[in-house]
Amino acid sequence: MQSMTCYDLHSHSNVSDGTLSPTDLVKRAVGQGVDVLALTDHDGTEGIALAITAAKETSLELVAGVEISVSWGSNTIHILGLNIDPQEPELQLGLQAIRDYRVGRAEEIASRLHKAGISGALEGASAYSSKVMLGRLHFAKFLVTEGHAKDINDVFKRFMVRNKPGYVPGQWASLEDAVNWIIQAGGQAVVAHPARYKMTATKLRRLLTEFKELGGVGIEVVSGRQHPEEIKRLASLANGFELLGSCGSDFHSPDNTWVELGRLNNMPNDVTPIWSSW
Ligand code: AMP
Ligand code: MN
Ligand code: MN
Ligand code: MN
Repeated sequence: MQSMTCYDLHSHSNVSDGTLSPTDLVKRAVGQGVDVLALTDHDGTEGIALAITAAKETSLELVAGVEISVSWGSNTIHILGLNIDPQEPELQLGLQAIRDYRVGRAEEIASRLHKAGISGALEGASAYSSKVMLGRLHFAKFLVTEGHAKDINDVFKRFMVRNKPGYVPGQWASLEDAVNWIIQAGGQAVVAHPARYKMTATKLRRLLTEFKELGGVGIEVVSGRQHPEEIKRLASLANGFELLGSCGSDFHSPDNTWVELGRLNNMPNDVTPIWSSW
């Protein structure tokens, strides 16, 4: 019989670009029936202590995680670290370097938006950020509020993407560094939302080959809001590359009614779930 434990191994708090505090995120996850939740903020682990404290008063198990921004060739990809030790010094140095890069990058985004006739973006975006990490979603909220786009989705079609105002090509961690930091911190490295990179099948296979060689162990097979055919495709990649399957909603905010904590399709039966070894 299949276990009924509900795993959601990809979520964000307001420490990165989510809107809920780590405490409120845990409360909401409990309310949604999540049994095991990974907090995976972008390039930072500042929310984990709070989330663990909040989880202690509930039956929810909190997995310490992170989502690391990586440049792989001309692609930006995201690598999840699950069950990491957030105190590990090399991991923290690496994440700090990425957040430092984000500061200059945010200034550059603002300056490019300014040239396109939109002023005050840096201050505007900062108002939505907890100050630990500044990202494009904070700018997106500013752009919507100022009436430059009708919603967040619209922003990411018209701003801050290739050939559009405010675009800054990212220079993130290398794949090798990100995987090493995660391993060093005792965690498991997982390729997040592989379908979202819009890579050709050949390129995705090349990524997974390299990722495995570096010591990566998992691939996100089930994400929020995903087509069943895509799950099948990712499941067969997981099996072909002997990678463990992970599942996570990538929840950011209750405002996005399409994505909810714990609202996920089942892991296909033939995939070995990442939690099988936990
Ligand atoms: P950054 O790491 O600063 O480049 O920002 C990336 C973040 O922007 C992602 O983690 C999402 O939260 C958000 N994002 C990117 N594309 C979209 C999109 N099409 N719709 C909504 N959010 C998006
Ligand atoms: Mn995000
Ligand atoms: Mn991501
Ligand atoms: Mn994410």
